[in-house]
Amino acid sequence: MSVFVSGATGFIAQHIVGQLLEQNYKVIGTARSTVKADKLKSQFGNNPNLTIEIVEDISKPKAFDAAIKKHAKDIKYVLHTASPFHFDTEDIVKDLFNPAIEGTKDILESIKRHAADTVERVVITSSYAAIMDFDREADDTYKVTESTWNPDTWKTGQANAVRGYCASKKFAEEAAWAFLKENRDVVKFKLSVVNPVYVFGPQQFDSDVSAKLNTSCEIVNSLIHSSPESSFDPAGMYGGYIDVRDVAKAHLLAFQKEETIGQRLILHGGKFSSQDIADVLNEDFPQLKGKIPVGKPHTGVLGVGEKGVTVDNSKTKQILGFKFISFRQTIHDTAAQILKHEGKL
Ligand code: NDP
Repeated sequence: MSVFVSGATGFIAQHIVGQLLEQNYKVIGTARSTVKADKLKSQFGNNPNLTIEIVEDISKPKAFDAAIKKHAKDIKYVLHTASPFHFDTEDIVKDLFNPAIEGTKDILESIKRHAADTVERVVITSSYAAIMDFDREADDTYKVTESTWNPDTWKTGQANAVRGYCASKKFAEEAAWAFLKENRDVVKFKLSVVNPVYVFGPQQFDSDVSAKLNTSCEIVNSLIHSSPESSFDPAGMYGGYIDVRDVAKAHLLAFQKEETIGQRLILHGGKFSSQDIADVLNEDFPQLKGKIPVGKPHTGVLGVGEKGVTVDNSKTKQILGFKFISFRQTIHDTAAQILKHEGKL
């Protein structure tokens, strides 16, 4: 029996595939082109347990149909990670909402059509973006838990690209829960959802380090490649962190454990600000001294503590039962891989 992983070439999905192969699962991943598929297969050493199917664009009708149909009798678990995570759009509905929402509905419809009796568990990669209230992130009196929802609407979610991405994750996750409600008697699978905050950590393969990284790791990459004089807002970035290796582990536990059924899992290790990233980079990597901004050391979360919304993910931590990688470790490992690739370590 196999695990189907959509968007297998993605930053998070590559770690998921890696951990699945380590645990001896057979994996059927999807990639958008044969070039990307071949590259991924070769990066995984042409492991015979890894098959890749081409799914070019998840916003197209029946995008997943051929791949799911082909392996219908063999797929026991489906992990849907594919979704656009970027802010490069002039058309939020077309570029963000549609692929996120239609891709989610489509993979579930394909399961219903071809594998209603074989797929037992589905895990959707949602996001903390589906939980957060943009206007209350700085509100010390506000608390979110696994049952909180982003209040944005179809209209307010189009205010700008960042908000658009967050709304896309909300609408896609809502679509998944609604699908299950409507099809409870038709499909066999149980649903679990993973809601990570900003995901950092190394790429699965050093060879994937490039001038521009995936959206979350690019936060670290761009600071490494800035200059001491560059305009630096110590609080410019403020949010939660989690390491990609923990996100992958949680995806596996999300279909392996019974306690995760019907749950949303908030993957949040704690908060950080831009200043905290700068502090780790300046303290851990002497080769960056004098080359990147220093800001006001130890005035971020690591120095003065968290502020703003309280993210209470105690339920998630209790269900998952493992300790998350620390902020220092995740930023250190992200930066170390970049510097190694550039011959600076
Ligand atoms: P990546 O951009 O690295 O991965 C996204 C994956 O989805 C890629 O394989 C991409 O393919 C694929 N994809 C995007 N759009 C389409 C499309 N229209 N048709 C087919 N495939 C598509 O991002 P991450 O690994 O960071 O994100 C993976 C998931 O995790 C997403 O659902 C994201 O929303 C979620 N997430 C990420 C967080 C983070 O901080 N990284 C935080 C919370 C949630 P290709 O690269 O070929 O375009």
